[in-house]
Amino acid sequence: MSEEAEHHKCLIIGSGPAGYTAAIYAARAAMKPLLYQGTEPGGQLMITTDVENFPGYPEGIMGPAMMEDLKKQAERFETDVRFGFVTSVDFSSSPHKVVIDEKKTITADSVIISTGASANWLGLESEMRLRDNGGGVSACAVCDGFFYKGQDVVLVGGGDSACEEASYLSKLCSKVYMIVRKDHFRASKIMQQRVLENDKIEVLFNHETREVLGDDAVKGVRLFNNVTNEEREIECTGFFVAIGHMPNTEIFKDFLELDDVGYIIHKPDSSATNVEGVFVSGDAADSVYRQAVTAAGTGCMAALDAERWLTEKGLH
Ligand code: NDP
Repeated sequence: MSEEAEHHKCLIIGSGPAGYTAAIYAARAAMKPLLYQGTEPGGQLMITTDVENFPGYPEGIMGPAMMEDLKKQAERFETDVRFGFVTSVDFSSSPHKVVIDEKKTITADSVIISTGASANWLGLESEMRLRDNGGGVSACAVCDGFFYKGQDVVLVGGGDSACEEASYLSKLCSKVYMIVRKDHFRASKIMQQRVLENDKIEVLFNHETREVLGDDAVKGVRLFNNVTNEEREIECTGFFVAIGHMPNTEIFKDFLELDDVGYIIHKPDSSATNVEGVFVSGDAADSVYRQAVTAAGTGCMAALDAERWLTEKGLH
């Protein structure tokens, strides 16, 4: 342990509903938690519009507003919320070591991982190029939909996120083409219904994206019909991708047990990982439910588990 390393009883990594809920519980249990927000402060809800299914908001609430409230609630109980990204960890001995922004080392008796998940991409060269040069490829309709006001856009995906984003875009754009690779949606019935009843959304089932057209800016897409084997082009100025997410767990892979996709494995009925004193909450461990309310619930569990573990070890 470096002499300069700052030491904490409880370190929380990530600032979505899981991280902030863990912080609220840990802070109220006098664990003086330190929370690092990560690269996307507020997590995935920062790129969501109306949250209608979080209990306690009968009229719904905007995702960013809810995250601001959660942050304020965590800070009210003196959680130390900081900007910074955990770039590496060493869970081989106690206390655990965590490096922030490749520079600063923190040691912590207990660590709660709430790093969430990140958007998946199709992986096409044209998609990546136009994403990286800001040419009109996005995985966040709420962030970028505004730029395509009154224009035609294409959105890929058939899950709840894709349906939600298509509905959102339809309020801004003149037309939304929704590209679904199978002959059916994966989304829940209510979300499907909203899309199918929206006359500004045209769903193209059995279609795959071959190329996003345009050199510096999106001009259209070249699609492939996997039933007829025919190709067609559609003109559009924005290309949105909503095909699921990957857990942000790469930095933990040398220490924690992960499943095939990369989700952190925890003990049954517990947030405890295979490493003593390291707990997990939220989408980093949840490939099934992935809801704000389930993330918040597991954040609570992780803080309670960490508190009990610290007490058992005589550290709290
Ligand atoms: P999902 O994994 O549920 O859906 C991903 C979609 O993308 C599927 O239609 C899938 O197709 C498609 N897809 C995946 N890879 C590709 C590819 N390479 N090319 C084309 N299409 C592809 O992810 P979501 O992000 O939609 O949802 C994640 C979770 O969050 C779900 O549990 C969902 O219910 C939940 N959610 C709930 C909301 C709500 O209740 N308000 C809102 C948003 C999300 P295929 O079916 O063929 O595999």
